[in-house]
Amino acid sequence: MKYLVLSDIHANLEALDAVLAAAGGYDHALVLGDLVGYGANPDEVIDRIRALPSATLIRGNHDKVATGLDSVEGFNHLARYAIQWTAARLAPENRDWLAALPAGPTAIDQLVEICHGSPFDEDVYIFDDLDGRRAFNVMTRPLCLFGHTHVPAAFRFDGEMTAIGPPRGDRFRVTLDEGATYLVNCGAVGQPRDGDPRAAFGILDVAARSLTVMRVQYDLAAAQAKIIEAGLPDVLAQRLAIGR
Ligand code: ZN
Repeated sequence: MKYLVLSDIHANLEALDAVLAAAGGYDHALVLGDLVGYGANPDEVIDRIRALPSATLIRGNHDKVATGLDSVEGFNHLARYAIQWTAARLAPENRDWLAALPAGPTAIDQLVEICHGSPFDEDVYIFDDLDGRRAFNVMTRPLCLFGHTHVPAAFRFDGEMTAIGPPRGDRFRVTLDEGATYLVNCGAVGQPRDGDPRAAFGILDVAARSLTVMRVQYDLAAAQAKIIEAGLPDVLAQRLAIGR
């Protein structure tokens, strides 16, 4: 079984298409939330994800706010502007579909579970060892995949917790040893924040017990032009070019 791991697509259709083209053969997609917000193609991204032949999805915080399940209170002014723009444009059918996505964590099989922010709270960010430790305490599978920070990261726990990597570059492979547990963020498809502007995604090969974090170039200029044309804040276009 091979899983394609997608998180934080954020209405960036160009990035999503590049990832789907680069993914190669896989059996099932795992989509870790935040399909919308920031980018200019929320409906198109949702349509693409809905058309995937086989996928398990959970919602992200932007999906909740875009559909009225949560308030914009916790959002900074950029995120707020973008999510209000998104909410006003989403096709009603896509809004209903997005609003019906379940909260994580969701167990996929005996090896892996997925969450948006963390396995203890879908909205909490995992940045450091302390957050990682909290996550390891509540994980129900040897591997927990998370998103939300838009920064690829990997932690290993076998009584001691160690940070692996960090996962940077074209391909970063994490071998999943028997007897250890892992907490991995494969990065953001649509708005990377680790200084590498390329779209990030993961391929999990269950039989090989191998998880690879990968990067792919996409048509950044087209995504930026759409953001500006849509009247979204210029900075949302600029940040894509620097991966912040
Ligand atoms: Zn996000």
